[in-house]
Amino acid sequence: MEKIERPLLKLTGNEHRHLAEVLRARTGDKIILCPNDGRDYVYEIRSFDKTSATLSYVNDCENDTEPELYLAVFPSLLKGDKTEFEVQKLTELGVKKISPFIGDYTVQKSEKSERLRRAAHEASKQCGRAVIPTVDDPIRFSDIIPALGEYDVVVFAYEGAYARGKRLGDVIKKSARRIALVVGPEGGFSEAEVKMMSECGYCPVTLGKRILRAETAAIAGAAVIMQLAGEWE
Ligand code: SAM
Repeated sequence: MEKIERPLLKLTGNEHRHLAEVLRARTGDKIILCPNDGRDYVYEIRSFDKTSATLSYVNDCENDTEPELYLAVFPSLLKGDKTEFEVQKLTELGVKKISPFIGDYTVQKSEKSERLRRAAHEASKQCGRAVIPTVDDPIRFSDIIPALGEYDVVVFAYEGAYARGKRLGDVIKKSARRIALVVGPEGGFSEAEVKMMSECGYCPVTLGKRILRAETAAIAGAAVIMQLAGEWE
């Protein structure tokens, strides 16, 4: 078979800085590039200078870290850098889409999407994912409702659900392929929001007897869903 010659690549800017200053890579080292197509591309560093690294292609293979489950998390924006923290952890857990919203009791009314996308990018690199999760621009709570129609199972974490609500184990089956998890802000969901979700037939679920911080609820909820859907076997 004819061997396809691939052109040399030049790595500049942040990626070059990361390679030189953080990873302290040297000529001859092999690195993996992920152009977000689900494959790992192994390249060898041929030369290095102050502003760029020249790389030659070695081989490529499928990256097997992606879950089959399409889990999307719809978290409220949170104060300070908590949304960024959430994005980092949800990326590590294999969540495919993070779609932040602004609800009735959301205190933080805006967030720089670029910052959140950068967090998803960095976390994907760190944990070895070859597909970076989608991070949507924040929208109003009522606007996430139509998007939830695309999922086999929609659960919203509601601390008031302990007595009469369901457990994640009651609603997440291994056969579910597209799941959405909705988590409220520091102040919780308003009654109107709970009503809106319930009227759409979406299921309030408890995450136990204790009230979790919003970021804990999103991260723990996503982890339990991954386990129940068979992604950790
Ligand atoms: N409104 C609550 C209060 O002030 O008592 C607190 C809301 S909690 C800090 C933030 C979000 O985490 C909630 O809207 C809910 O989505 C989720 N959450 C926290 N603990 C939960 C639990 N035990 N069960 C289900 N969801 C929970």
